[in-house]
Amino acid sequence: MQRGGFDRIATDRRPREAPRVPAATWVEVCRFQTATQYQTLDLVLHAVERAMERYRHRGADTSIKRPVVVFDLDDTLFKSNQVRTWRIMREWLEDRPKLHWEVRRNLETLRPEALAYHLKDTFSDVAGLDLAAPYVREALADLESYWNPRFFSNAYCQRDPLQHCSVEFAKKVHDLGASIAYLTGRDEERMGKGTRRAINTSGLPRLSSRVKVFLKPHKDDDDAMFKKSVRDTLTAWGPVVATFDNAPANCVVLKDAFPKAISVFVDTVYDPGLVEIRHGLYKIFDFSRRRRST
Ligand SMILES: [Mg+2]
Repeated sequence: MQRGGFDRIATDRRPREAPRVPAATWVEVCRFQTATQYQTLDLVLHAVERAMERYRHRGADTSIKRPVVVFDLDDTLFKSNQVRTWRIMREWLEDRPKLHWEVRRNLETLRPEALAYHLKDTFSDVAGLDLAAPYVREALADLESYWNPRFFSNAYCQRDPLQHCSVEFAKKVHDLGASIAYLTGRDEERMGKGTRRAINTSGLPRLSSRVKVFLKPHKDDDDAMFKKSVRDTLTAWGPVVATFDNAPANCVVLKDAFPKAISVFVDTVYDPGLVEIRHGLYKIFDFSRRRRST
């Protein structure tokens, strides 16, 4: 007991927020589980099997629900950012015959997998264009205004190709009996119809009473905050046994929201912004169950 009649909390023991670091650093400094991709995917399937066992033998105990597996869509089950942006950029190049020759030359040879997450970084870091030059800044602003209404649209989002083996894995989860939540940062107004069409025509488990999609109600909602906001809805639906997301910020939120779940970071492409460090996530690169080390 200290002077004043109460125990003081030592300042160096005060809970502090985990430091926030750029996403590229986050991937380097977070301590991920040492499981390989194969082991991680197998672990999820076993967790589903165990939870389904409990569900099947629940008897009169209605508190035991069917397990839920949460999948993000963009750059988790689908290849989205780079492919969709590349397609839009090609159309823009065709639609702009008077574009400065240097901008055209440096952009038209890029492959989808070379693109950065943000157009600005693609211009400067990938295409080697000088953002200080007025004609480059003008071209970037023009492409951004061309890109935005197309990237976030039903027409374009329904054409994303699938991530390697994502259909096989999601179907396996579904066949074992789990419910599936497609939890996406896409918004209902601009991308709802295209998203539902994409899911139902891709080969992924189709939408049904135990396969649901959760889209942001408003386009300006923060992705991570939206994902956090559906925690209670998902928990009421059933025990969440695993989550998959490619965005570090979403992975942090999902790990905190579902501490008992297997939280999987899908290391594809992601926003380079600041993220809180979180240890203990699993990491995979796609959904192939061939043995490989992470
Ligand atoms: Mg995503």
